[in-house]
Amino acid sequence: MRVLLVEDDALLGDGIRAGLKLADYAVDWVRDGEAARLALLDHDYDACVLDLGLPKKDGLAVLRDLRAHGATVPVLVLTARDTAADKIAGLDAGADDYLTKPFDLGELQARIRALLRRAKGAAQPTLGHGKLVLDPAGRSVTLAGESVRLSAREYALLHDLLSHRNQVRTRAQLEESLYAWGEEAESNTVEVYIHHLRKKLGSELIETVRGFGYRIGGGT
Ligand code: CA
Repeated sequence: MRVLLVEDDALLGDGIRAGLKLADYAVDWVRDGEAARLALLDHDYDACVLDLGLPKKDGLAVLRDLRAHGATVPVLVLTARDTAADKIAGLDAGADDYLTKPFDLGELQARIRALLRRAKGAAQPTLGHGKLVLDPAGRSVTLAGESVRLSAREYALLHDLLSHRNQVRTRAQLEESLYAWGEEAESNTVEVYIHHLRKKLGSELIETVRGFGYRIGGGT
C-alpha cells in the first residue's frame, strides 16, 4: 500500500512517515501543495494524508482540484484547524476523514486502515482468502490458524494482492505499491517476493497470469 504524506512541518512529517513505514506502507512525503498536486497526478496512491496549511497551495485547494479531476483516492485531512466550520469545509471539499493536531499516531494508523478497507468496499477489519487471514491492525498473517512470519516486503506484497482479490495485478502496479521514491526496485524483486510467498503459503495461492501479472482468487 502506498501513501502520500503532505506535511510541511519537518518534525511532525518525519514522525508520521516513520510511523507509517513501521506499518509497512510505502510512504512518499511532500512538503507543499504544489508538490502534492504533481505527486497525485503521477501516482496511484492507496491513501493520502493531507495537511491544510501548506506553502504554495492550500490543502483545501489541493483537495478540491483532486476531486474536480475525478480522483477517488481516500484522503485523510490532518490539521490544526479544529473548528466545526473547518471540519465541514474539509469534508465537503472531498476529504474522507479528518483528524486534528495534536493527534495520536495509533489513531492515525487505525483511521488509515479504515480508509483503505472502505476504499476496497470492505467493512470487515481483516483480509483473507481460503484459510489465509491477514490482519492489518496486528500486521499478522495466519494460515489455517498458524502464524506465518513474513518480511516487510512480503507482507506488503501479500497485502496488495489480497486488497485486490480476484484482480490481476501487474508487476508495475505491485512495484508502485511496494516502493516509495528513492527506493526503486531492482528488476526482478517482485518475482523474488512472489517466490518467497509461495514457499511460505503454498504454491496454489498466487496465480501467475502469463503476460499480465499475478492474482489471488479466480477472475470475476
Ligand atoms: Ca502546515
